Amino acid sequence: MRRLVALVLLPPLLLTACATVPLTGRKQLSLIPDSQMNAMSYQQYDQVLAESTLSSDAKATAMVQRCGRRIQGAVEDYFRANGLSHHLDGYQWDFNLIESEQVNAWCMPGGKVAFYTGILPLCGDEAGVAVVMGHEVAHAVAEHGGERMSHQLALSLGGMALSEAVKDKPDETRALWLTVFAVGAQYGAMLPYSRTHELEADHMGLIFMAMAGYDPRTAPEFWQRMAAAGGQAPPEFMSTHPSDETRIRHLKEKMPEALAYYQH
Ligand SMILES: [Zn+2]
Repeated sequence: MRRLVALVLLPPLLLTACATVPLTGRKQLSLIPDSQMNAMSYQQYDQVLAESTLSSDAKATAMVQRCGRRIQGAVEDYFRANGLSHHLDGYQWDFNLIESEQVNAWCMPGGKVAFYTGILPLCGDEAGVAVVMGHEVAHAVAEHGGERMSHQLALSLGGMALSEAVKDKPDETRALWLTVFAVGAQYGAMLPYSRTHELEADHMGLIFMAMAGYDPRTAPEFWQRMAAAGGQAPPEFMSTHPSDETRIRHLKEKMPEALAYYQH
């Protein structure tokens, strides 16, 4: 029944509440205003930082922040060149390195990035950090979190006017947020992204890292190391979404496009 409701509802929604993902051009459902996503993001980011210990390794922290600024610059350049700068309105970029054994990193809406020291050995060097940075920033600027929340909202609220529901039901919206961004000291990870979102973040991240001056050929090497390490990683870095072979093949397919930006 639920599925039937969704099928009836989605076509008009897709006409009125559709956005386009920068770079890939994929159409996505977008029911939650960026300003609302960013406000929830900034609040939770502050909370995560308050509950965490920042790394005391000044050199590693500087590397993560330098890499972050370079990826940010690439994103801003790409968006400006394509008339998409409004997508970044309200962004408050932030890059922090958290002391933790977790093999983890994420970027929340509005450019709030956290790296965990546990992922640095797998990154190896700054180009490896750029693979992860580009991928996580891509999830944020492609608004994958908002898209997931929009789908859940469409399913859970049925026939209500959805834009009204978002305004009138802050508690429900907040609860939806937590189903997507369960990022806290106790969880440590966002829920796994879909295969579509993972491959899209890989593609966009590859372009952003290349534009930022990092060799994109580092990316398939990183994901191969991640696959070999397996096991203890949180969902975002588990090797099943998509399969390792699919991910590596897809990255290699996009490599000529990325190398054209790198050699520019
Ligand atoms: Zn991802």
